[in-house]
Amino acid sequence: MTEISDWIYRISRYRLIGSKCVECGEVAYPPRLTCYKCGGKMADYQLPRRGKILYYTVVKSLPERYNRYGAYPVAIVELEDGTRIFGLLTDVDNPEKGMEVEAVLRKLYTYGEHGKIIYGVKFRPVLG
Ligand SMILES: [Zn+2]
Repeated sequence: MTEISDWIYRISRYRLIGSKCVECGEVAYPPRLTCYKCGGKMADYQLPRRGKILYYTVVKSLPERYNRYGAYPVAIVELEDGTRIFGLLTDVDNPEKGMEVEAVLRKLYTYGEHGKIIYGVKFRPVLG
């Protein structure tokens, strides 16, 4: 990946920006240039930051760079507009189906000899 496309990719991950098809309205995340359903053009689309857990599981066999977590809950989250995305959960001991969650920016992992920190969106329970 070039630096610019890497940067754009990171921006979309930080801000939860997907794309929406101008022809059929299909939503994609991460964003795409063309619709995988109808081949139409896609435009930037701000996904809602809140949703609920549809399904979740706890991953115990993690890639090396995530190892400091030991085990990690992941979920399919249905956002307020009905878009379903895959995401890591955070700040939660006992995830449940239907739990209200919101997207927050968190450290994902570090890599390289200088410990470059990679951030991304995770979902945490909505408080109150
Ligand atoms: Zn389409």
